[in-house]
Amino acid sequence: MVSVEEALNRILARIQVLGLEKVDIIGSLGRVIGEDILAPRDIPPLDNSAMDGYAVRATDIKGASRESPISLKVIEELPAGILPQMSVTKGEAVRIMTGAPLPKGADTVVMVEDTEKTGEGVRVFQEVPRGEHIRRAGEDVKKGDRVISKGSVIRAAEVGMLASVGRAFVSVHQRPVVAILCTGDELVDVDEGIADHKIVSSNSYTLAAQVMECGALPLQLGIAKDDPTEIEQMLRQGLRTDIILSSAGVSVGDYDLVKDVLGGIGFQMEFWRVAMRPGQPLAFGTIGGKPTFGLPGNPVSSMVSFEQFVRPSLLKMMGHKNLFRPIVEAVLKEEIIKKPGNRHFVRARVSLEEDRYVVTTTGPQGSGILNSMVDANGLIIAPEDRTQIKAGEKVRVQILDRSFESAILENHQGVEAT
Ligand code: AMP
Ligand code: MG
Repeated sequence: MVSVEEALNRILARIQVLGLEKVDIIGSLGRVIGEDILAPRDIPPLDNSAMDGYAVRATDIKGASRESPISLKVIEELPAGILPQMSVTKGEAVRIMTGAPLPKGADTVVMVEDTEKTGEGVRVFQEVPRGEHIRRAGEDVKKGDRVISKGSVIRAAEVGMLASVGRAFVSVHQRPVVAILCTGDELVDVDEGIADHKIVSSNSYTLAAQVMECGALPLQLGIAKDDPTEIEQMLRQGLRTDIILSSAGVSVGDYDLVKDVLGGIGFQMEFWRVAMRPGQPLAFGTIGGKPTFGLPGNPVSSMVSFEQFVRPSLLKMMGHKNLFRPIVEAVLKEEIIKKPGNRHFVRARVSLEEDRYVVTTTGPQGSGILNSMVDANGLIIAPEDRTQIKAGEKVRVQILDRSFESAILENHQGVEAT
């Protein structure tokens, strides 16, 4: 039996970062970029107006005020996206819209609000300092600047920046294809008739969803009976993927055949059993270098094991640097009693009470009770050596998902989605 830390270290040591593929920039959202992006030109490329108004020479409007306006001759009108044809000389102005390039000769823009149009010209009511209301060429990005660094996760801002610098396609780390095999004589698929002595293979779906939440690609191998030949046949289908997850059959029962079958197809076991609950019977190893997990069958054990070990593995494969869920400190609202020896991951709900996080468990913690996982937004990490954690103590909580954000928002009155 290994500790959670040791299991994680030994797993991650076996995980290789996948290679790169080229995708369109919308498709790059959430992916890890595999190249530095340099700006091929200044952005904006030219000095341009930050306001609707008039491009002028600052010296020409020195001293202008409501009481003594200065009249200028308007020689051109410049909507955004048009190159100026004229140069501004003494006593002249160009009508200019936000984003339009500044004409030669002009060094300042007067806002339209500080002017009044006349027949051929404009009256300026306000002196403005030289350079006012001009966005300088290169003020956002200079030619040659590194605008996105290799290894960054692409978010909406990066997608926009890629478009700005003229990149329609970029190289990102590949997404692993993840084989999922569920085993057990008692299992049926959700669309098969459900008899009372059968259970639906919910793990097939939970695992696929967890894989997708990581940004990886699930491949369902199906459900194998507790029959070595059938398990082996189906597992072999997984050998063409990047990583294999099998569910159940890794305990010590007479029908727990997965480890033996894996052994027969070249499984090099790294370890079996981790000092944690739920999720103790976990086997990990490689088949021809391919990471392979024998996950426990109980629905919550499977989910929690995935969270602790498979998710960081998939994120590493996809080039992520940050592999772990956030952890917050919260005040425990009720006592937790446990046996020593294992680390417990206790299903719980964190919320914000005044200015501190508080956490309550979501009820029965049996490893088959998926309902308390449905209600949870986090897992309290109850240390190996503890047997009792009292109400009022601070505990560490691993945050599982976005429902944490809504739990926080519920406490900020007045912020409601309609
Ligand atoms: P096992 O490890 O095969 O002894 O399975 C442990 C428990 O997990 C049993 O109660 C199984 O019925 C349950 N279980 C196994 N596989 C699945 C699955 N794919 N979906 C839901 N529950 C499962
Ligand atoms: Mg079984």
